[in-house]
Amino acid sequence: TGEMTALPDIQPGLLKFIKNTNARAPPPSESLVFGRTFTDHMLTIPWSLIDGWKEPTIQPYGPLSLEPSATCLHYAQTVFEGMKAYRDDTGKVTLFRPDKNMERMNTSAARLALPTFHGPALLELIKELVRTDKHWIPSEPGHSLYIRPTLIGTQRAIGINPPTEALLFVICSPVGPYYPNGFKPIALYGTTEFNRAAPGGTGAFKIGANYAVGVLPQKVAANKGYQQNLWLYGPEHDLTEVGTMNMFVVFRKPSGGYELVTPPLDGMILPGITRDSVLTLAREHAAGKSPLAELTKDLEVSERRVTMKEVKQAAQDGNLVELFGAGTAAVISPVDRIGYLGEDVLIPTEADGMGPVSRPIWKELVGRQMGAIDHEWSQFV
Ligand code: PMP
Repeated sequence: TGEMTALPDIQPGLLKFIKNTNARAPPPSESLVFGRTFTDHMLTIPWSLIDGWKEPTIQPYGPLSLEPSATCLHYAQTVFEGMKAYRDDTGKVTLFRPDKNMERMNTSAARLALPTFHGPALLELIKELVRTDKHWIPSEPGHSLYIRPTLIGTQRAIGINPPTEALLFVICSPVGPYYPNGFKPIALYGTTEFNRAAPGGTGAFKIGANYAVGVLPQKVAANKGYQQNLWLYGPEHDLTEVGTMNMFVVFRKPSGGYELVTPPLDGMILPGITRDSVLTLAREHAAGKSPLAELTKDLEVSERRVTMKEVKQAAQDGNLVELFGAGTAAVISPVDRIGYLGEDVLIPTEADGMGPVSRPIWKELVGRQMGAIDHEWSQFV
């Protein structure tokens, strides 16, 4: 009688399970190539404007059926997340701050006018999927299960509109360590001819379109002999991100202490969960709460603009301490060189490839991710 009825959100209680009767044995861990191998099962949850979120299903990993008119195939109506489950040698499985991935996926979905959902409900289903394929998680140090939640517009109509039909699915891929033989600093190409993001654009969202347009610049960088793009923005060449990682730089202060700098979340930067974790650890350390071993107390933590001019000057003056990328895939990725307008800016690294600020932060982060250090950031599956 004129009462508004809310459409159903994701309902873990309705989960349907279709067992994979052709289950395979996971391949040997040393043969894993990032993102090539997938586990026996996937999670699918369809949505429609009329019915809301429908019955979730865990089913055998396999092809999706889409009509050629599905909007995701034309207008990049696709958002995704990247998160990891770690298994230790006792079999304990840990997710690292997965609530943050659920939040960010909702923010990305909203930006593309795709349906949003109750984050904890999807997380509960992801945990069930991970438990189903738990034996696929390699337990060797640095190995993990990469989890890829994805949401696509599936409406069968090639008008450009908010989709009236969508599909959320989650697939899982066992992965080895990013740096199998210890940290290996990378060289960056200071990219001025392409922009990754701009004010008012979509750089702060994890949407497929941002990555499609990054492939060619990555190829250009590789052809010039650099592993990743250093994404520069604006007339002063502000440093923004490194490949698909957030960026940190450490300057020596006149006091002899350090300033740890990362660009602010101004709409051009993806709000990385590793970025947030690095900032939190560094701020807690500087405030004397949960101090990190072997790190000076004289640590200033800044979210501010940083330009190539400042980085070049600091390198010349001997005040550039380190520069690194931070993201789920590699955790911390040290950089030893930036190709910039035809010359190389050199960045110091220590014998293990890291630096005095990144090393203690990395140790603490990895401890919490693996569940070796007890912390509310670790969620057991
Ligand atoms: N920036 C970009 C562009 C990324 O794709 C990623 C990976 N999600 C990151 C930063 C790092 O984010 P996170 O620490 O959440 O993995």
